[in-house]
Amino acid sequence: MALSARLRAQDRPWLRLTPQQLQARARVLAKIEDGTYRLESAPCFCGAPAGGDLPAGSDLEIAGRDRYGLPVRTVLCQACGLLRSDPRMDADSTARFYQDDYRDLYTGAGNAAPLFESQVARGRGLVALLAKLLPSIETVYEVGCGAGGLLVPFQEIGKRVRGVDLGDEYLELGRAHGLALVHGTADDLLREAGEPADLVLLMHVLEHYLDLRASIEQTMRLVRPGGILLVEVPGVASIGTSYRGDVLSYLQNAHNFHFTAATLEFVLTRCGLDVLACTESAVALCQRPEADGPRAVRPAPGTAASVLRMLGEFERRLHHRVRSGEAA
Ligand SMILES: [Zn+2]
Repeated sequence: MALSARLRAQDRPWLRLTPQQLQARARVLAKIEDGTYRLESAPCFCGAPAGGDLPAGSDLEIAGRDRYGLPVRTVLCQACGLLRSDPRMDADSTARFYQDDYRDLYTGAGNAAPLFESQVARGRGLVALLAKLLPSIETVYEVGCGAGGLLVPFQEIGKRVRGVDLGDEYLELGRAHGLALVHGTADDLLREAGEPADLVLLMHVLEHYLDLRASIEQTMRLVRPGGILLVEVPGVASIGTSYRGDVLSYLQNAHNFHFTAATLEFVLTRCGLDVLACTESAVALCQRPEADGPRAVRPAPGTAASVLRMLGEFERRLHHRVRSGEAA
């Protein structure tokens, strides 16, 4: 049962889309329809089984559509409270989606230059946030760096910086700004750099991954033992700030997971990180312990219920705003 009828039934784009976005949406729908993009069932990170042969009540369906009106089924794992897409595109389809349709669907007509400047501004915020830790940090890497603007303020204060991403166009832009950027994955960056970093940034990347554990473990290898990993995702709480309180505007097919502070901390801890701090805006400051290894951490009781309450509250408030005449 969806949280509210509109989250299940919305089959038209919920956002106002540009002609380029509408074309990309039509392509994606056609590719899902004809099997070019294949969907696969996705079990929860916590080990609860995937949809289909579930014991009744293990997953709760939250939505059947995303903001583009694409068929994306979002479920809440009642065991751990993690929200995920199930089914979701398989790895091969995901790679082709990012190559062929992601940019047109998400940005319409893309312009990279303002993006770089906004990355630099966010990087300055991070330098301020991490001020106390910076004296013990010499090297800073970013996974999924795009054009790498976030790294500029770290480079300006004398840190050795490197970034890695799969998008060539953005990498070229960053290189033109004098940044050392590598095409590929965290493993490619580690090979190229030859040594792990004191600080690794993973900003708005985790929610795109298909396999949380494998991806976090790969990122951890990039952090020296005792080093810092800073993770940021668009938390469920950000629906209230960045998405005008609208759950449907927040749901997007490229995001396979949705976190609260509690579920982000649960996932990172279970993968073997020490979480030093984690905010409801879903920024987690983590430390790679001297000795690695996953842990038998259990989800905190009541997590799923509190996630459901949070989403329900957004829906109730939105409904109230619409009824009282304010535009949704
Ligand atoms: Zn779970």
